[in-house]
Amino acid sequence: MERGKENIGFIGLGIMGKPMVRNLLKAGYVPCVYNRSRAAVSELEAEGATAANSSKEAAERSDIVITMLPDSSDVEAVVLGTNGILEAAHEGLLLIDMSTISPVVTKRIAAEVEKAGTRMLDAPVSGGDKGAIAGTLSIMAGGDAGDFERAMPLFEAMGKTIRHCGPLGSGQVVKACNQIVVALVIEAVSEAMVLGSKAGVDPDVILQVLSGGLAQNRVLDLRGPTMIEHDFTPGFKARLHRKDMGIILETAREFGVALPVSALVDQMFTHLVAGGKGDLDHSSLLLVIEALSNHSINEA
Ligand code: NAD
Repeated sequence: MERGKENIGFIGLGIMGKPMVRNLLKAGYVPCVYNRSRAAVSELEAEGATAANSSKEAAERSDIVITMLPDSSDVEAVVLGTNGILEAAHEGLLLIDMSTISPVVTKRIAAEVEKAGTRMLDAPVSGGDKGAIAGTLSIMAGGDAGDFERAMPLFEAMGKTIRHCGPLGSGQVVKACNQIVVALVIEAVSEAMVLGSKAGVDPDVILQVLSGGLAQNRVLDLRGPTMIEHDFTPGFKARLHRKDMGIILETAREFGVALPVSALVDQMFTHLVAGGKGDLDHSSLLLVIEALSNHSINEA
């Protein structure tokens, strides 16, 4: 069945959610938006979105409701809690959770959602704030193939590489794989920078040379220059990457997989967050390596 433009609800208007709503507006949708703090709602209302006073209201007024929230517990509260999405469950409602949360929790939420006659996809993203702004996110989805097809016009408004990964929870599994690689690459770049710099080489030279060979990668390209300057404006907050390391290790334990280096990098993120730096960009992992070597590449 050919559908017209569906009514969209969007809950969670942070670093990612806000630009994703802007791209839906550009594609001709008029999302009904809700966020815990009001400023982001008013900002998007001024740009053409409509405002809801609760997650329940956003879902009531929608055919498809998207969540883009920090953690598993936030998604549970917004979907299953008081004034939550399920209180507004209605025929045909599709919930798309684009947050990065545990695949185990995803399945638990989906079981409740399905009992209420609502459909659910997990569709986490990668590409960061820059990808969200440009509408070039990678979107990895799990769930029913028909629901995925239905969501495709929305995904195309927000992303570029869009993939159905398998049954419900598969999107979150692929996202966990993605976050292993990103964390370990940031850690490797940090070690390279600190070694090279303390051994007397200008960090800009290290960056340029590594960018031209097999060591080239997107962390170096996008974050290398800001890491050298110690500009850790997020981006992706360190506390959220620590949250993702928890998801990765929990999933690994469930499936009996050993991830020794991920476990080590999890400890580094914990050190960073415990030291009050959780709201810095995740590239601030550099500060942990600098502290271990008592050397700042910024002051070299
Ligand atoms: P953020 O902290 O900037 O935004 C989260 C928003 O959710 C905030 O505006 C907050 O007020 C709102 N919120 C929290 N609890 C709520 C509730 N109960 N009801 C309504 N609103 C609520 O986080 P972000 O960087 O936008 O990330 C969102 C998700 O996307 C996370 O799961 C993150 O891991 C994932 N992600 C982030 C990036 C990135 O680069 N920032 C990239 C890929 C994936």
